[in-house]
Amino acid sequence: MTDITVKDLISLFTLIAETTAREKERLCELDGVIGDADHGIAMELGFSAAAKAVSELDPATADPTLVFNTAAKAFLNAVGASSGPLYATAFMRAGAAVKGKVSLSEDDMVSVVAALARGIQDRGKAEIGEKTMVDAWAPAAKACEAARQQGLPLAACLAEALKAAEAGMEATKDMIAAKGRSSRLGERALGHVDPGAASAVVVISCLHTLFSP
Ligand code: ADP
Ligand code: MG
Repeated sequence: MTDITVKDLISLFTLIAETTAREKERLCELDGVIGDADHGIAMELGFSAAAKAVSELDPATADPTLVFNTAAKAFLNAVGASSGPLYATAFMRAGAAVKGKVSLSEDDMVSVVAALARGIQDRGKAEIGEKTMVDAWAPAAKACEAARQQGLPLAACLAEALKAAEAGMEATKDMIAAKGRSSRLGERALGHVDPGAASAVVVISCLHTLFSP
């Protein structure tokens, strides 16, 4: 695969914005069961603001770090829910991970996925098993890095990431929430997928779609 350019990253944010818009109702319904029913709105607002902001950058002069930092700022400004600072931190970390690069190699993109997951975990302080988006993001990043270490191409690494994210999302059904709004529900949260884990699968599926041949 040729290097991933600023244009490709802008396309990525556009694709995520379009996809979260389509998934808005489903994500709000999931959040309605164990939260306050706004997660789809938050994700749509955040990613449409991020996509708009990065589309206004000049691809001739912008670098990948500026794309991620611009997305972070726009997402944070657009989203009042807890997913705002979580994804904003994720994008800032992704930007820092590729600092100084004009375009991204496949290895760089794997580092981006790891940085996104790390940023969410550092910001929200959630561990695996606490019924949050970390239950999808952390195993996805781990699977992505493991696949890369085995020498697989980026598309295959992202396929592994997606599989791990889906398994992590499914696993949240059997968890009691320890972080965020749904932690007030105790055992009543059992049997329900965490909305943030579900939207993480949506985001990771976009990464997979865009970077698969
Ligand atoms: P809010 O709960 O403020 O309404 P959203 O509805 O946008 O925010 O997002 C809810 C999702 O945020 C949850 O399903 C969960 O995945 C995620 N979340 C909440 N708190 C944390 C945290 N501390 N760390 C990681 N993810 C979290
Ligand atoms: Mg909510």
